[in-house]
Amino acid sequence: MFEFRIDATSGPARAGRLALPHGTVSTPCFMPVGTQGTVRALSPNDLRAAGATLVLANTYHLHVRPGEQVVAQLGALHRFMAWDRPLLTDSGGFQVFSLEGFRRVDEDGVEFQSHVDGGRRRLTPERATEIQWTLGADIAMAFDHVVPGGADAATARDALERTLRWLERCARRHAELADGRSGGPAVRDGAAVRPSASPPVRQTLWPILQGGTHRALREAGLRRILDMNSWTGLAIGGLSVGEPKAVMYDMLERLEPKLPALPRYLMGVGFPEDLVAAVERGVDLFDCVAPTRHGRNGSAFTPDGPVNIRNAEHRDDPRPLDDSCDCETCTTFSRGYLRHLFVAEELLGLRLLSLHNVRYLIRLAGDMRAAIRRNAFGPWADAWRRRYLRSGSA
Ligand SMILES: [Zn+2]
Repeated sequence: MFEFRIDATSGPARAGRLALPHGTVSTPCFMPVGTQGTVRALSPNDLRAAGATLVLANTYHLHVRPGEQVVAQLGALHRFMAWDRPLLTDSGGFQVFSLEGFRRVDEDGVEFQSHVDGGRRRLTPERATEIQWTLGADIAMAFDHVVPGGADAATARDALERTLRWLERCARRHAELADGRSGGPAVRDGAAVRPSASPPVRQTLWPILQGGTHRALREAGLRRILDMNSWTGLAIGGLSVGEPKAVMYDMLERLEPKLPALPRYLMGVGFPEDLVAAVERGVDLFDCVAPTRHGRNGSAFTPDGPVNIRNAEHRDDPRPLDDSCDCETCTTFSRGYLRHLFVAEELLGLRLLSLHNVRYLIRLAGDMRAAIRRNAFGPWADAWRRRYLRSGSA
Protein backbone atom coordinates (compact mmCIF):
# COMPACT_ATOMS: atom_id res chain seq x y z
CA MET A 1 0.00 0.00 0.00
CA PHE A 2 1.07 3.59 -0.72
CA GLU A 3 3.51 2.26 -3.29
CA PHE A 4 4.45 4.57 -6.17
CA ARG A 5 5.69 3.10 -9.40
CA ILE A 6 7.02 5.21 -12.25
CA ASP A 7 6.05 3.58 -15.56
CA ALA A 8 7.63 5.99 -18.01
CA THR A 9 9.68 9.16 -18.14
CA SER A 10 10.25 11.84 -20.75
CA GLY A 11 12.93 14.16 -19.48
CA PRO A 12 11.97 15.10 -15.91
CA ALA A 13 8.27 14.38 -16.69
CA ARG A 14 7.07 11.07 -15.25
CA ALA A 15 4.00 8.87 -15.61
CA GLY A 16 3.29 6.63 -12.67
CA ARG A 17 0.78 4.80 -10.50
CA LEU A 18 0.16 5.43 -6.81
CA ALA A 19 -1.56 2.60 -4.89
CA LEU A 20 -3.84 3.88 -2.11
CA PRO A 21 -6.34 2.09 0.16
CA HIS A 22 -9.33 3.26 -1.92
CA GLY A 23 -7.81 2.69 -5.34
CA THR A 24 -4.91 3.40 -7.66
CA VAL A 25 -4.18 6.88 -8.98
CA SER A 26 -2.45 7.35 -12.33
CA THR A 27 -0.09 10.31 -12.44
CA PRO A 28 0.22 13.09 -13.49
CA CYS A 29 -3.09 13.63 -11.70
CA PHE A 30 -5.29 16.64 -11.09
CA MET A 31 -7.43 16.41 -7.94
CA PRO A 32 -10.60 18.49 -7.70
CA VAL A 33 -11.02 20.37 -4.42
CA GLY A 34 -13.95 19.49 -2.18
CA THR A 35 -13.47 22.25 0.38
CA GLN A 36 -16.45 21.40 2.58
CA GLY A 37 -16.64 17.70 1.68
CA THR A 38 -18.17 18.56 -1.71
CA VAL A 39 -16.66 19.73 -4.97
CA ARG A 40 -18.90 22.75 -5.44
CA ALA A 41 -21.93 22.07 -7.67
CA LEU A 42 -20.74 18.55 -8.56
CA SER A 43 -22.05 15.22 -7.28
CA PRO A 44 -19.85 12.15 -6.80
CA ASN A 45 -21.42 10.78 -10.01
CA ASP A 46 -20.34 13.95 -11.84
CA LEU A 47 -16.80 13.51 -10.49
CA ARG A 48 -16.66 9.88 -11.55
CA ALA A 49 -17.96 10.84 -15.01
CA ALA A 50 -15.22 13.49 -15.18
CA GLY A 51 -12.66 10.77 -14.44
CA ALA A 52 -11.60 12.04 -11.02
CA THR A 53 -9.59 9.48 -9.08
CA LEU A 54 -8.38 11.54 -6.12
CA VAL A 55 -10.30 14.33 -4.39
CA LEU A 56 -9.06 16.80 -1.78
CA ALA A 57 -11.10 17.79 1.27
CA ASN A 58 -10.36 20.54 3.71
CA THR A 59 -9.48 19.74 7.31
CA TYR A 60 -9.99 23.26 8.65
CA HIS A 61 -13.46 23.60 7.12
CA LEU A 62 -14.65 20.14 8.17
CA HIS A 63 -13.26 20.68 11.67
CA VAL A 64 -15.17 23.94 12.24
CA ARG A 65 -18.28 22.61 10.49
CA PRO A 66 -19.73 20.03 11.02
CA GLY A 67 -16.81 18.82 13.18
CA GLU A 68 -14.82 15.65 12.63
CA GLN A 69 -16.83 13.76 15.24
CA VAL A 70 -20.02 14.25 13.22
CA VAL A 71 -18.19 13.03 10.12
CA ALA A 72 -16.92 10.02 12.10
CA GLN A 73 -20.42 9.24 13.38
CA LEU A 74 -21.66 9.26 9.80
CA GLY A 75 -19.08 6.68 8.77
CA ALA A 76 -15.94 8.84 8.19
CA LEU A 77 -15.23 11.07 5.22
CA HIS A 78 -15.56 8.60 2.33
CA ARG A 79 -19.01 7.52 3.50
CA PHE A 80 -20.00 11.04 4.58
CA MET A 81 -19.45 12.52 1.11
CA ALA A 82 -20.28 9.30 -0.78
CA TRP A 83 -16.89 9.20 -2.51
CA ASP A 84 -15.44 5.69 -2.61
CA ARG A 85 -12.20 6.57 -4.43
CA PRO A 86 -9.03 7.97 -2.84
CA LEU A 87 -9.20 11.13 -0.73
CA LEU A 88 -6.53 13.53 0.52
CA THR A 89 -7.06 15.99 3.38
CA ASP A 90 -4.92 19.05 3.75
CA SER A 91 -3.81 19.85 7.28
CA GLY A 92 -5.63 23.14 7.75
CA GLY A 93 -2.36 25.06 7.92
CA PHE A 94 -2.94 26.97 4.70
CA GLN A 95 -6.50 27.97 5.71
CA VAL A 96 -5.52 29.04 9.22
CA PHE A 97 -2.76 31.26 7.84
CA SER A 98 -5.07 32.69 5.16
CA LEU A 99 -7.88 33.62 7.58
CA GLU A 100 -8.78 37.21 8.13
CA GLY A 101 -8.91 38.37 11.71
CA PHE A 102 -7.36 37.05 14.87
CA ARG A 103 -4.47 34.60 14.65
CA ARG A 104 -1.63 33.86 17.03
CA VAL A 105 1.24 31.53 16.24
CA ASP A 106 3.50 30.06 18.89
CA GLU A 107 5.71 27.02 19.06
CA ASP A 108 2.84 24.80 20.15
CA GLY A 109 0.47 25.69 17.31
CA VAL A 110 -1.93 28.34 16.04
CA GLU A 111 -4.84 29.99 17.80
CA PHE A 112 -7.39 31.45 15.40
CA GLN A 113 -10.92 32.64 15.05
CA SER A 114 -13.45 30.35 13.36
CA HIS A 115 -14.95 31.97 10.25
CA VAL A 116 -18.24 30.22 11.08
CA ASP A 117 -19.01 31.27 14.66
CA GLY A 118 -16.15 33.64 15.54
CA GLY A 119 -15.06 31.32 18.39
CA ARG A 120 -11.39 30.97 19.30
CA ARG A 121 -9.91 27.63 18.33
CA ARG A 122 -6.49 26.10 18.40
CA LEU A 123 -4.76 23.80 15.96
CA THR A 124 -1.53 22.06 16.82
CA PRO A 125 0.41 19.50 14.78
CA GLU A 126 -1.06 16.76 16.99
CA ARG A 127 -4.63 18.02 16.68
CA ALA A 128 -4.40 18.47 12.90
CA THR A 129 -3.10 14.89 12.67
CA GLU A 130 -5.85 13.54 14.94
CA ILE A 131 -8.59 15.37 13.02
CA GLN A 132 -7.32 13.97 9.74
CA TRP A 133 -7.06 10.49 11.24
CA THR A 134 -10.69 10.76 12.38
CA LEU A 135 -11.77 12.00 8.92
CA GLY A 136 -10.00 8.97 7.45
CA ALA A 137 -8.68 10.14 4.06
CA ASP A 138 -6.09 7.96 2.29
CA ILE A 139 -3.49 10.74 2.49
CA ALA A 140 -3.10 13.20 5.39
CA MET A 141 -0.88 16.27 5.22
CA ALA A 142 1.48 17.58 7.88
CA PHE A 143 0.51 20.82 9.65
CA ASP A 144 2.69 23.60 8.29
CA HIS A 145 3.45 27.28 8.81
CA VAL A 146 2.68 29.08 5.55
CA VAL A 147 4.13 32.54 4.78
CA PRO A 148 3.14 34.91 1.93
CA GLY A 149 4.89 34.57 -1.45
CA GLY A 150 7.07 37.63 -1.00
CA ALA A 151 8.29 36.75 2.52
CA ASP A 152 11.92 37.72 3.22
CA ALA A 153 14.52 35.08 4.01
CA ALA A 154 14.35 35.52 7.80
CA THR A 155 10.55 35.11 7.87
CA ALA A 156 10.68 32.16 5.48
CA ARG A 157 13.46 30.53 7.51
CA ASP A 158 11.52 30.93 10.75
CA ALA A 159 8.42 29.34 9.18
CA LEU A 160 10.47 26.54 7.63
CA GLU A 161 12.15 25.68 10.94
CA ARG A 162 8.79 25.65 12.72
CA THR A 163 7.27 23.54 9.94
CA LEU A 164 10.10 21.00 10.34
CA ARG A 165 9.62 20.83 14.12
CA TRP A 166 5.89 20.46 13.61
CA LEU A 167 6.49 17.74 11.02
CA GLU A 168 8.27 15.62 13.65
CA ARG A 169 5.30 16.03 15.97
CA CYS A 170 2.80 15.18 13.20
CA ALA A 171 4.79 12.08 12.26
CA ARG A 172 5.03 10.94 15.90
CA ARG A 173 1.31 11.39 16.47
CA HIS A 174 0.42 9.71 13.18
CA ALA A 175 2.61 6.71 14.02
CA GLU A 176 0.93 6.44 17.43
CA LEU A 177 -2.52 6.50 15.86
CA ALA A 178 -1.50 3.98 13.21
CA ASP A 179 -0.08 1.68 15.89
CA GLY A 180 -3.36 1.87 17.75
CA ARG A 181 -1.81 3.65 20.71
CA SER A 182 -3.55 6.74 22.00
CA GLY A 183 -0.12 8.11 22.93
CA GLY A 184 -1.40 10.64 25.42
CA PRO A 185 -4.72 11.93 26.60
CA ALA A 186 -7.63 10.24 24.85
CA VAL A 187 -9.57 13.49 24.88
CA ARG A 188 -8.13 16.72 23.53
CA ASP A 189 -10.15 19.89 23.29
CA GLY A 190 -13.22 17.84 24.12
CA ALA A 191 -12.86 15.57 21.09
CA ALA A 192 -12.38 11.88 21.70
CA VAL A 193 -9.52 10.29 19.80
CA ARG A 194 -10.26 6.71 19.01
CA PRO A 195 -7.34 4.35 18.63
CA SER A 196 -7.11 2.95 15.13
CA ALA A 197 -8.51 -0.38 14.11
CA SER A 198 -5.94 -3.12 13.65
CA PRO A 199 -3.62 -2.99 10.63
CA PRO A 200 -3.49 -2.63 7.64
CA VAL A 201 -2.88 1.07 8.01
CA ARG A 202 -5.41 2.98 5.94
CA GLN A 203 -3.75 6.38 5.89
CA THR A 204 -0.34 7.79 5.13
CA LEU A 205 1.12 11.18 6.14
CA TRP A 206 2.97 13.42 3.70
CA PRO A 207 5.37 16.21 4.63
CA ILE A 208 5.16 19.69 3.11
CA LEU A 209 8.29 21.46 1.95
CA GLN A 210 8.25 25.20 2.68
CA GLY A 211 10.99 27.81 2.29
CA GLY A 212 9.27 30.52 0.24
CA THR A 213 11.15 31.62 -2.86
CA HIS A 214 14.54 31.03 -1.21
CA ARG A 215 16.37 28.21 -2.92
CA ALA A 216 18.87 27.49 -0.15
CA LEU A 217 16.05 27.22 2.38
CA ARG A 218 14.09 24.87 0.13
CA GLU A 219 17.12 22.64 -0.42
CA ALA A 220 18.00 22.54 3.28
CA GLY A 221 14.36 21.83 4.17
CA LEU A 222 14.22 19.01 1.65
CA ARG A 223 17.36 17.34 3.05
CA ARG A 224 16.01 17.48 6.59
CA ILE A 225 12.60 16.14 5.60
CA LEU A 226 14.21 13.19 3.83
CA ASP A 227 16.57 12.53 6.78
CA MET A 228 13.66 12.54 9.23
CA ASN A 229 11.62 9.61 7.96
CA SER A 230 10.86 7.33 5.03
CA TRP A 231 7.85 9.03 3.46
CA THR A 232 5.42 7.79 0.82
CA GLY A 233 5.03 11.18 -0.86
CA LEU A 234 6.19 14.77 -0.66
CA ALA A 235 4.26 18.02 -1.05
CA ILE A 236 5.70 21.33 -2.17
CA GLY A 237 3.79 24.11 -0.43
CA GLY A 238 4.07 27.87 -0.39
CA LEU A 239 4.37 28.34 -4.15
CA SER A 240 1.73 29.93 -6.38
CA VAL A 241 0.93 32.29 -3.50
CA GLY A 242 1.54 35.56 -5.28
CA GLU A 243 5.12 35.25 -6.55
CA PRO A 244 5.71 35.61 -10.33
CA LYS A 245 5.16 32.37 -12.23
CA ALA A 246 8.72 32.40 -13.53
CA VAL A 247 9.92 32.23 -9.91
CA MET A 248 7.81 29.14 -9.23
CA TYR A 249 8.95 27.43 -12.44
CA ASP A 250 12.59 28.20 -11.66
CA MET A 251 12.26 26.84 -8.10
CA LEU A 252 10.72 23.59 -9.39
CA GLU A 253 13.47 23.25 -11.98
CA ARG A 254 16.20 23.65 -9.38
CA LEU A 255 14.57 21.33 -6.84
CA GLU A 256 13.77 18.57 -9.32
CA PRO A 257 17.20 16.86 -9.50
CA LYS A 258 17.26 16.72 -5.68
CA LEU A 259 13.78 15.26 -5.21
CA PRO A 260 13.43 11.57 -4.35
CA ALA A 261 11.43 9.08 -6.46
CA LEU A 262 8.33 9.73 -4.30
CA PRO A 263 5.10 11.19 -5.70
CA ARG A 264 5.50 14.98 -5.77
CA TYR A 265 2.46 17.09 -5.02
CA LEU A 266 2.50 20.79 -5.91
CA MET A 267 -0.14 22.30 -3.64
CA GLY A 268 -2.73 24.76 -4.90
CA VAL A 269 -1.61 24.80 -8.52
CA GLY A 270 -4.19 24.14 -11.21
CA PHE A 271 -4.21 26.54 -14.15
CA PRO A 272 -3.66 24.54 -17.34
CA GLU A 273 -0.40 26.30 -18.26
CA ASP A 274 0.94 25.72 -14.73
CA LEU A 275 0.08 22.01 -14.84
CA VAL A 276 1.97 21.58 -18.09
CA ALA A 277 4.98 23.59 -16.86
CA ALA A 278 5.11 21.70 -13.55
CA VAL A 279 4.80 18.24 -15.10
CA GLU A 280 7.63 19.30 -17.41
CA ARG A 281 9.62 19.90 -14.20
CA GLY A 282 8.82 16.53 -12.63
CA VAL A 283 5.63 17.15 -10.60
CA ASP A 284 3.00 14.39 -10.31
CA LEU A 285 -0.01 15.72 -8.36
CA PHE A 286 -1.99 18.95 -8.30
CA ASP A 287 -5.04 20.49 -6.66
CA CYS A 288 -6.76 23.80 -7.26
CA VAL A 289 -10.15 25.44 -6.89
CA ALA A 290 -9.66 27.20 -10.25
CA PRO A 291 -11.77 24.86 -12.43
CA THR A 292 -14.85 25.13 -10.23
CA ARG A 293 -14.38 28.76 -9.14
CA HIS A 294 -13.83 29.89 -12.72
CA GLY A 295 -16.64 27.65 -13.92
CA ARG A 296 -19.07 29.37 -11.58
CA ASN A 297 -17.89 32.71 -12.99
CA GLY A 298 -18.58 31.60 -16.57
CA SER A 299 -14.96 31.02 -17.53
CA ALA A 300 -14.15 27.75 -19.29
CA PHE A 301 -10.82 26.14 -20.18
CA THR A 302 -10.54 25.07 -23.81
CA PRO A 303 -7.61 23.88 -25.96
CA ASP A 304 -7.59 27.37 -27.51
CA GLY A 305 -7.36 29.15 -24.15
CA PRO A 306 -9.99 30.32 -21.69
CA VAL A 307 -13.44 31.29 -22.95
CA ASN A 308 -15.84 33.59 -21.12
CA ILE A 309 -19.22 32.14 -21.92
CA ARG A 310 -21.01 35.36 -20.93
CA ASN A 311 -19.56 37.19 -23.93
CA ALA A 312 -22.14 38.36 -26.48
CA GLU A 313 -20.29 36.56 -29.29
CA HIS A 314 -21.64 33.24 -27.94
CA ARG A 315 -25.30 34.33 -28.05
CA ASP A 316 -26.30 32.32 -31.12
CA ASP A 317 -23.28 30.00 -31.31
CA PRO A 318 -24.43 26.41 -31.95
CA ARG A 319 -20.97 24.92 -31.32
CA PRO A 320 -20.05 23.05 -28.14
CA LEU A 321 -17.78 24.75 -25.60
CA ASP A 322 -14.91 22.44 -26.59
CA ASP A 323 -15.47 20.13 -29.56
CA SER A 324 -12.68 17.80 -28.41
CA CYS A 325 -14.29 17.25 -24.98
CA ASP A 326 -16.41 14.23 -24.04
CA CYS A 327 -18.11 15.73 -20.97
CA GLU A 328 -21.88 16.07 -20.56
CA THR A 329 -21.66 19.83 -21.11
CA CYS A 330 -19.82 19.60 -24.42
CA THR A 331 -21.69 16.58 -25.81
CA THR A 332 -25.14 17.99 -24.96
CA PHE A 333 -25.28 21.79 -25.04
CA SER A 334 -24.39 24.67 -27.36
CA ARG A 335 -22.35 27.72 -26.37
CA GLY A 336 -25.49 29.75 -27.02
CA TYR A 337 -27.48 27.75 -24.46
CA LEU A 338 -24.67 27.88 -21.87
CA ARG A 339 -24.44 31.66 -22.30
CA HIS A 340 -28.21 31.88 -21.84
CA LEU A 341 -27.95 29.94 -18.53
CA PHE A 342 -25.33 32.39 -17.21
CA VAL A 343 -27.14 35.50 -18.38
CA ALA A 344 -30.39 34.18 -16.84
CA GLU A 345 -28.47 33.20 -13.67
CA GLU A 346 -29.65 29.60 -13.83
CA LEU A 347 -27.93 27.14 -11.45
CA LEU A 348 -27.45 24.55 -14.18
CA GLY A 349 -24.88 26.82 -15.83
CA LEU A 350 -22.66 26.76 -12.74
CA ARG A 351 -22.73 22.96 -12.65
CA LEU A 352 -22.13 22.52 -16.39
CA LEU A 353 -19.09 24.81 -16.56
CA SER A 354 -17.64 23.39 -13.33
CA LEU A 355 -18.08 19.88 -14.73
CA HIS A 356 -16.39 20.80 -18.01
CA ASN A 357 -13.44 22.54 -16.33
CA VAL A 358 -12.78 19.59 -14.03
CA ARG A 359 -13.03 17.21 -16.98
CA TYR A 360 -10.71 19.49 -18.99
CA LEU A 361 -7.92 19.31 -16.38
CA ILE A 362 -8.34 15.55 -15.91
CA ARG A 363 -8.14 15.05 -19.70
CA LEU A 364 -5.12 17.33 -19.78
CA ALA A 365 -3.41 15.11 -17.19
CA GLY A 366 -4.34 12.07 -19.31
CA ASP A 367 -2.90 13.69 -22.45
CA MET A 368 0.31 14.40 -20.54
CA ARG A 369 0.54 10.77 -19.39
CA ALA A 370 0.16 9.61 -22.99
CA ALA A 371 2.85 12.05 -24.21
CA ILE A 372 5.24 10.87 -21.46
CA ARG A 373 4.64 7.23 -22.43
CA ARG A 374 5.56 8.12 -26.04
CA ASN A 375 8.67 9.84 -24.61
CA ALA A 376 7.53 12.94 -26.46
CA PHE A 377 6.57 15.29 -23.65
CA GLY A 378 8.68 18.25 -24.81
CA PRO A 379 7.24 18.48 -28.35
CA TRP A 380 3.74 17.78 -27.01
CA ALA A 381 4.06 20.61 -24.46
CA ASP A 382 5.37 23.05 -27.09
CA ALA A 383 2.45 22.26 -29.40
CA TRP A 384 -0.02 22.52 -26.51
CA ARG A 385 1.32 25.93 -25.50
CA ARG A 386 1.32 27.24 -29.07
CA ARG A 387 -2.40 26.55 -29.27
CA TYR A 388 -3.50 27.37 -25.70
CA LEU A 389 -1.58 30.61 -25.29
CA ARG A 390 -2.10 31.92 -28.84
CA SER A 391 -5.65 33.11 -28.40
CA GLY A 392 -8.42 32.95 -25.83
CA SER A 393 -11.46 35.14 -25.82
CA ALA A 394 -11.78 35.56 -22.05
ZN1 LIG B 1 -16.48 19.53 -21.78
